[in-house]
Amino acid sequence: MDFVEQLKTSVDIVSVVGEYVRLRKSSSYRYTGLCPFHSEKTPSFSVHAARQFYYCFGCHAKGDAIRFVMEMEHVSFYEALKSLAERYGIPMPKRSQYADEESRLRETLLQMHELAQEQFRANLAGPAGEAARGYLAKRGVAPETIEKFGLGYADRSGRALVRLLEARGFQADRLEPSGLVRKRDDGSFYDSFRNRLMFPIHNESGRVIAFGGRALAAEDNPKYLNSPETPIYRKSHVLYNLHRAKEAVRKEDRVILVEGYMDAIGVSAAGFPAVVASCGTALTTPQVQALKRHSQHIVVNFDPDAPGAAAAERSINLLLDESMQVRIMDLEGELDPDEFCQQRGAEAYRERLNGAKGYFYWLADRARARFDVHTSEGVVAVLKFLLPAVQRIPDRLERLAVAHDLAGYVGVSDGAVIESFRKSVADRQEKSIERPREPVRADERGLLAALLAEDGGNQALLAELAGLEVLNRLVTRRIFQTVLAMAAAGEPVTFEAVNARLEEGDQSLLAEVLFSEEAKLHETVPEFGKQCLERIRRSEEQFRRAQLKARVKEAERAGDMAEALRLAVELQRLERPREAVG
Ligand SMILES: [Zn+2]
Repeated sequence: MDFVEQLKTSVDIVSVVGEYVRLRKSSSYRYTGLCPFHSEKTPSFSVHAARQFYYCFGCHAKGDAIRFVMEMEHVSFYEALKSLAERYGIPMPKRSQYADEESRLRETLLQMHELAQEQFRANLAGPAGEAARGYLAKRGVAPETIEKFGLGYADRSGRALVRLLEARGFQADRLEPSGLVRKRDDGSFYDSFRNRLMFPIHNESGRVIAFGGRALAAEDNPKYLNSPETPIYRKSHVLYNLHRAKEAVRKEDRVILVEGYMDAIGVSAAGFPAVVASCGTALTTPQVQALKRHSQHIVVNFDPDAPGAAAAERSINLLLDESMQVRIMDLEGELDPDEFCQQRGAEAYRERLNGAKGYFYWLADRARARFDVHTSEGVVAVLKFLLPAVQRIPDRLERLAVAHDLAGYVGVSDGAVIESFRKSVADRQEKSIERPREPVRADERGLLAALLAEDGGNQALLAELAGLEVLNRLVTRRIFQTVLAMAAAGEPVTFEAVNARLEEGDQSLLAEVLFSEEAKLHETVPEFGKQCLERIRRSEEQFRRAQLKARVKEAERAGDMAEALRLAVELQRLERPREAVG
């Protein structure tokens, strides 16, 4: 068997997708969840366990397990194969025909990162790491936490990693693209990180793709230095600690978002594993989408200082645009999350976590602190400040209720002001809904599902279909045409084979059909296919009668009574019960 086929039969798409998307079983073979490829609040993403494919009714994303990994991880076909093979312990052919240049480069970069990670860890444990260990001890990081998060140390030499990579045979032209090494004008190389505490950054499948390095000497700038963007690291798509946190995020159905590596590590070590960090960059939409796949509930716990609050404020609208349920956690005493856990303890942190305010009350507090609500200008300024966030609530009634609450919370009593606030809140422009497509008829869906229910195609049904003109008027006509053409050529009619021959739009249709209720109920009932066929035949007769009637009228209008009579007789014959027609 071809390796790709072998892989596909060994992996289960439900568990592959399930690593990224919270799936719920909705029927014996169907699992649904929030689509990872477009923004949505209610699940329109489905996985077909029996046919091993996924389909989104919203954005029409679709494919098999390999395609899913490609799209999710932004990797090539070969890398997706490799990643799946590794996860499922299936040996990969050594010299693979699937590898392309880009995949090989990325694989090389991943290997270099693995090697760097080993070296950094060894450095931290060895004599060179004494100062770094001292710093960690001072910050209260336990040895098992150091181990768990793979912390390391880049030594002072500025050459150690270059030497190691060269000794392991990595080519000179691979060094710089890794971001681990830089090039001087004279062509010589040096390490990107020097005398820094190293935090490995992983992708969602747990491979090291970048590093964050914290300066240990006061004079070293910047305090935090991150890997540059590389073919394996896209900053805006990665959240620190997500690969470790995601299981807990799903279980608790809540994620804590902090700013820094140390915060994520400290909060996690205090017993709150469902924590991720945005690592120094402003939160981005792809990051929020990555979170949303695991939970829609987020607690933002940024630093209590002004930049932290400003960052929290900015992230709120972004989170709301992705339909996240947002709460904000304030820690008193000017302590960042890590310090708070250390000094006040886990219980105090849990209390703050559970008591985190809905974002609008937090915003209202900030507005109240900023503007004077005793003046009418102040009131208007406050409401203007709150408006964008409130307008992002998708449900109109909820929006109005929140607007009302907020006006009360801020202390606005002026009826006219509240009224104008309510009005601008209510007038939110609704996002346009996708253009509806011509619906697929129930009998059409059923017939197709029945046709493909047996591997090789339902022969009895296939024989009945040839020459049925009505099929050419169906929305799914190209699927039927493909099936019939394959059957006529003596090819086995399987879902995979048919699907492979269809164009994008028709693949979507077929996926929809196979997920539809009829298919669910009747997939295994051959009699059902016959019933659907009957209904389709009847609809063909109806169509012909309607056409004849129109032609009779036309002939009458034109004064051609002979033709009108001839057509009327034909029509009468059609309208007799089927049995009599023979
Ligand atoms: Zn989608």
